[in-house]
Amino acid sequence: MNTEYLSVKDAAGEEALCRAAEIIKNGGLVAIPTETVYGLGASALNDEAVERIFTVKGRPQDNPLIIHVHGSEALKMWCSEVPEAAYKLAEKFWPGPLTMVLKKKNCVPDRVTAGMDTVAVRCPDHPATLRIIELAGVPIAAPSANISGKPSPTSAEHVRHDIDGRVEAIVDGGECRVGLESTIIDLSVTPPRLLRPGGVSLEQLRDILGEVDVDAAVYRRLEAGERPKAPGMKYRHYSPRARVVILDGAVENVAAYVNAHRGERTAVLCFDGEEKLFDVPVCLSYGDPARPETLAEKLFACLRELDRDDIDEIYSRCPPKGGVGLAVYNRLSKAAGNTVIEV
Ligand code: AMP
Ligand code: MG
Repeated sequence: MNTEYLSVKDAAGEEALCRAAEIIKNGGLVAIPTETVYGLGASALNDEAVERIFTVKGRPQDNPLIIHVHGSEALKMWCSEVPEAAYKLAEKFWPGPLTMVLKKKNCVPDRVTAGMDTVAVRCPDHPATLRIIELAGVPIAAPSANISGKPSPTSAEHVRHDIDGRVEAIVDGGECRVGLESTIIDLSVTPPRLLRPGGVSLEQLRDILGEVDVDAAVYRRLEAGERPKAPGMKYRHYSPRARVVILDGAVENVAAYVNAHRGERTAVLCFDGEEKLFDVPVCLSYGDPARPETLAEKLFACLRELDRDDIDEIYSRCPPKGGVGLAVYNRLSKAAGNTVIEV
């Protein structure tokens, strides 16, 4: 299949968006830019198109998709029993990196929700994708536009690398501002439960909701037989081919550990200004820990850059666990198969 490239950065933008919407209406697949990561979108109401999303990504069938909508009016169209808290969160954080899980209406196809009685809904903060949703006139089901297991794509180039020739179109809307997938909050239970940390922090959610539980899968690997509430959290994720190890400790200790254990094929993910401390073949900074949003923005691009044949081990500095840092820590520890060494 010849994949169309639709750029929305120039004057031809509106034409490109109309084309993308037309492809979606006709049951095709379009990779779409959002502020979190690029999504692989299809009409949520078209079973065959949704089925193809799973095939193209190699995504396990029991891992439900998020539907992307244009605003909070959509909540009552697709969800039953919408609590007041959902509207409060939408008012504060939509469009933005927050997905809400709510009881679904029958009109939401089981194919999208993997047979669950809840549906995950989000309004993304990217003008191109908001316009595509509006023009298509349907909710867009979209997981991240990567091959399952690999780091999510934060640029159109990452998407091209993973799925060129397998989808009808890729919309290039520039680099993703947040860089990690959305926060997922389950509002179908009391108290609400954080299923996945993201660009909206746990602290921000507690400011609005009061008590919020945190799913065990956010902090640690689940034991055999334990079931996470967000099925996607059980899979190995975000991984380059190399073994990833998080080193938790002061920078001098991390540098001493790495320099004592490094091999010919070792890479390091450090923080800004620390590169010279590490005696390794490849050393990349993924941002400034005092501003965890910079770590979020660059983490996946760095993991992709380190996904090379000549690197078989990646040591990473441990991000701070507060605010958006919790989301960075969560993705990095999944990439590391939860291998954290305190130094
Ligand atoms: P992705 O789109 O690749 O970021 O994955 C979507 C995530 O949302 C996965 O981890 C899913 O398990 C989760 N998810 C989607 N729908 C639901 C739902 N109804 N209940 C709980 N988690 C969900
Ligand atoms: Mg994903």
